[in-house]
Amino acid sequence: MNALTDKIREVTRLVTAHRQREGAGFMVRRPLPSQGFDGADPFLLLDEMGPMDYGPGEAVGAPDHPHRGFETVTYMIDGEFEHEDSAGHRGTLKPGDVQWMTAGAGIVHSEMPSARIREQGGRVHGFQIWVNLPARDKMMRPRYQELAADSIPSASSEDGLARVKVIAGEALGIAAAIDTHTPIVLQDWTLAPGADVTVHLPADQRGYVYVFQGSALLGDAATEAAEGQLAVLGEGGAARLRTDTAAPATARLLLLGGVPLNEPVARYGPFVMNTEEELMQAFHDFRAGKLGEITRSATLG
Ligand code: MN
Repeated sequence: MNALTDKIREVTRLVTAHRQREGAGFMVRRPLPSQGFDGADPFLLLDEMGPMDYGPGEAVGAPDHPHRGFETVTYMIDGEFEHEDSAGHRGTLKPGDVQWMTAGAGIVHSEMPSARIREQGGRVHGFQIWVNLPARDKMMRPRYQELAADSIPSASSEDGLARVKVIAGEALGIAAAIDTHTPIVLQDWTLAPGADVTVHLPADQRGYVYVFQGSALLGDAATEAAEGQLAVLGEGGAARLRTDTAAPATARLLLLGGVPLNEPVARYGPFVMNTEEELMQAFHDFRAGKLGEITRSATLG
């Protein structure tokens, strides 16, 4: 029996997301990084895109831009995103789909609401999470892992009040289909009123909970985290996720975990390296066209 392995993690800090514009001007709710909170190693950024209800011609995204040195994870809740990149890869993310993109040595891509939503309007809601890569993997070949909604492993608690989609890590005996470079937990939990579930979150990982609908009670102390709040979990081996029996609505949250890399971070815009020299090299390589460019056929405009 290891005391830390069984210890329930309590909330040590609550960070309320701020709103800001990203890309060509779409609104995100961003708890990480926030003023006074940028230390969530190995996570670099957590953006909740929307939910936004666009009218015809209003939707904007992130046109061609580069990345190097980390991974971008896009998880759609509602709406559709189209992506294409300098390696000739393109596709559409629909509700519940995940794209886990390892930018590695570098890629230029665009991420846009689908043509249908740009033209006709509609709702866009989703997440983008940046996961840092260890120094040894920063210059690896870019790699994609894409999972359609129905191929993401999911499970329910015995009482049926808690449901989980396991994007990374393990929960309720279900393992993720995504392969990560360092151990990562990323799970979408839906908690009906009165849900009470304890999930293993390895003691060597840092743990976080981001509530994006309703409100959750965390740990044995039942610390409340409301919609738009990121809870930093303290040490332990498990996260306890609960909702009040009288909660007016179902709660939804992301459970995140990761082993800290404990490496120096040199970060600017779309590049995340270990040293200033590597950061300068990334800009130089991008300007020299070494990260490639997106080739579009006439029919794609
Ligand atoms: Mn991007």
